[in-house]
Amino acid sequence: MSADYNEPLSRSPLPAVHPDKIRSIFALLRGANPAPRTELVYASPFELLVSVVLSAQATDKSVNLATPGLFKVANRPDAMLKLGRRGLERHIRRIGLYRTKAKNLIAACRLLLEKHGGEVPRTREELERLPGVGRKTANVILNTAFGEPTIAVDTHIFRVANRTGIAPGKNVLAVETRLLKVVPDEFKPDAHHWLILHGRYVCKARKPDCPKCLIRELCEFRHKTKEQD
Ligand code: SF4
Repeated sequence: MSADYNEPLSRSPLPAVHPDKIRSIFALLRGANPAPRTELVYASPFELLVSVVLSAQATDKSVNLATPGLFKVANRPDAMLKLGRRGLERHIRRIGLYRTKAKNLIAACRLLLEKHGGEVPRTREELERLPGVGRKTANVILNTAFGEPTIAVDTHIFRVANRTGIAPGKNVLAVETRLLKVVPDEFKPDAHHWLILHGRYVCKARKPDCPKCLIRELCEFRHKTKEQD
């Protein structure tokens, strides 16, 4: 029978690991990638907002294929409103859920113009009032566009936090709350990107690449893969 690589997620969360271990994990991640960046291509907070909304349940790659053409004609809320829902749909139709996303983005542009002078707001409350923007998206904008030490928990971060034992939790909010408590301040601004990239390329959902993982000695996961697996 093959190992269940997601087993800890379906059991009671493990206790978090020792703070020294967490510090060492982030030191290793920082050593390998001192300035981690989002893989979404953007040139302004508005472009990032649009890209993050489009990336829900879609790959960054598919978003990056669509946005250069879109931003050429609409990289501000007023231009996107002028483009209209149908025009926007034509640019993003290869991205999953594009109709809903187009509807939300047009409504968000209207609100940005009415309430924020066409700028992306800098508070969680204001961001979460924009259609299509939930807690995770707000966290990404606050962190990536405005440098706030927030940690957006997506499926990759949820998995890495649980497997490693850095911040076990039964749901994304529990993991986020725990991460904010246990990640040392010096690592917080970049923690989101280190964890997401680690989950995307090394600690993968179906089969983590433990033999090549630089934090394997510090990871608590009980079913680490071996070379021959
Ligand atoms: S050792 Fe394996 S399970 Fe642990 S973080 Fe690395 S890839 Fe993930």
